[in-house]
Amino acid sequence: MNSSSQTIPSWPDLYQPPMRFDLPTLKLNGSMGLVEVGASRGSSHPFSMYICGITPYDATHLGHAATYIAFDLINRYQRAMGTKVEFVENITDIDEPLLERAERDNVDWQELAASQIDLFRSDMSALHIHPPKAYVPATAVMTEIDRAISQMKVNGFVYTVDQDLYMDISSFLADLPIPLDEALTIFAERGGDPQRIGKRHPLDPVLWWANKNNEPGWESSHGFGRPGWHIECSVIALRYLLGEDYLSSHHSDFSIELQGGGSDLIFPHHFMSGAQGKAILGQPFARHYVHAGMVGLDGEKMSKSKGNLVFVSRLLNEGVDPVSIRYALLRDHYQSDRMWSAEKLKTAQESVANIRIALSREEVASTDSVISTIVSALANNLDTPAALNALEEWALRTIGNQSQADQLATREAGNLSRILDSLLGLAF
Ligand code: ZN
Repeated sequence: MNSSSQTIPSWPDLYQPPMRFDLPTLKLNGSMGLVEVGASRGSSHPFSMYICGITPYDATHLGHAATYIAFDLINRYQRAMGTKVEFVENITDIDEPLLERAERDNVDWQELAASQIDLFRSDMSALHIHPPKAYVPATAVMTEIDRAISQMKVNGFVYTVDQDLYMDISSFLADLPIPLDEALTIFAERGGDPQRIGKRHPLDPVLWWANKNNEPGWESSHGFGRPGWHIECSVIALRYLLGEDYLSSHHSDFSIELQGGGSDLIFPHHFMSGAQGKAILGQPFARHYVHAGMVGLDGEKMSKSKGNLVFVSRLLNEGVDPVSIRYALLRDHYQSDRMWSAEKLKTAQESVANIRIALSREEVASTDSVISTIVSALANNLDTPAALNALEEWALRTIGNQSQADQLATREAGNLSRILDSLLGLAF
């Protein structure tokens, strides 16, 4: 197959209103605990963020939406601080689950992928999520993957079992985020092959599959075949965040600032893509790893096998306002595993309605304290529940005008509106 070697269009850019005051540095709960992000290298240094994208089938369920909204908050906060954000996202448009789904439904895998990518883009747009500067399908970077594997070979990390290429992970095992026995179980559940005879270590990940069962494949210097799951993210992140010459240039400070995704990616995906990035570069891959929690439905895990996925497009088709969907997902903390329910959406719709009424008033309750609460809550690991509590209280104070002592201020609603749009992506 051809490798088009290009990114594909993401979705339209969004206007983010500028902030008129300085923000505190953003603290995030990453793999190293609570850390300040984006500040250590100064605001003149771009904030480079790589977020793992979808495998294009079953797009876009609310778990996806919650994850991309969480990283959109980080993006928005950095921009609001005046930091340039370099944001790259991939599309895993060649992988077993996609091929299996296409076969099950008797459709062409490329057509399935194209239709789901279209849906994803329009959902991201509706949810007011900033687009990445590069939205890159795995199938577009086959040449880059070929080069990166060759570099890993030179660096001594690659070996062959039959004609398949594996990475020797042994020198990275000290960085395993979970105990080894647990890692082996999860690895087997998520596409790994710990039992395969001939591997040096059961956790060694495949880098390049030799062609099998007439699956789609690409010519490469490692033979005709297709890449393993993790290598695309290492390569896309390095190529699109560090530049075309990342393999030949020698910088002392070469890591990307943040790699993110859902907590189901902590292992094996982020561990493997980080290890592979380091095996290619000879330097740490990402400075910080940040993960979003999972979204369940009515007390159960939401999953394709249970058939209980709630899709953004279905809610939109039912006429649900996308601001309410975003609001409902922001009502819980991004790192908590939470439940979705029809009630939660209804509560969010009522809050959104109240806030809209309050923001449209000429005279509103003073906004100073609600603004400072929202900013400090977000700076503290994106505490959106605390931010929205303060906002809802303000809206009730404005609408109810309950207390005579509560000073009403004029023309302050516009400023609050801009801040909500800028930092929370809520354009009321
Ligand atoms: Zn990834």
